[in-house]
Amino acid sequence: MTSTVLIVEDEIKLRNLIRTFLEREGLIVLSTGSGAEAISVAETSHPDLVLLDLGLPDVPGLEVARELLRTSDVLVLMLTAKASEEDRIRGLELGADDYLTKPFSPRELVLRVLALLRRGRVPAGSSACLSFGGGVIVFDEERHELLLRGELVGLSPTEWGIIHALARTPGRVYSRYELVNAVRGYEWEGYERVIDSHVKNLRRKLKEDAADPRIIETVLGVGYRLCLKSDG
Ligand code: CA
Repeated sequence: MTSTVLIVEDEIKLRNLIRTFLEREGLIVLSTGSGAEAISVAETSHPDLVLLDLGLPDVPGLEVARELLRTSDVLVLMLTAKASEEDRIRGLELGADDYLTKPFSPRELVLRVLALLRRGRVPAGSSACLSFGGGVIVFDEERHELLLRGELVGLSPTEWGIIHALARTPGRVYSRYELVNAVRGYEWEGYERVIDSHVKNLRRKLKEDAADPRIIETVLGVGYRLCLKSDG
């Protein structure tokens, strides 16, 4: 199936350049220079991925990201200015999937877009389920869904990536660096601490007691591991 990408970028030259490169990969490309229009286009056209410039003239890019991520499971790749590290981190904490700092090479952008789309898609030939801990958690590999005691837990692609990576070897401690790598598929220096906020969100969704988490355990100074303690 062909993927659809929505470009949200107010610099017309850059927008057209990105469009050309993505169309060359056979993707369907929609584009706009307005944050408000981006939200309505996303609602009606359901793109698979949004390339989101954080510096937009009408609505702050982070507000657009928050709205997109609140209402859909679209992949979000932020395009940011060099100076806006704080915005990048806030965007990632909101659940955005990746970022590129301007100026970037169009080839790099294409690689990131294709990597995200691959990750967000159903992997071919995956097994149906993986369960452990007496069936407390069931991973549905085909749908990228997680069931907690039979109930569906809505996860973002990044949250799914983290818990799925931990579940490869329950009990083994994974460093934040390893988790970043597992989720992204490539090195992503300096953002290990973003893993912490995703784990916090995961724990909330898994109804964990923050003082005594029974599913995702923090190993001080090292990282995280999946640890299903028995109740009581
Ligand atoms: Ca801009």
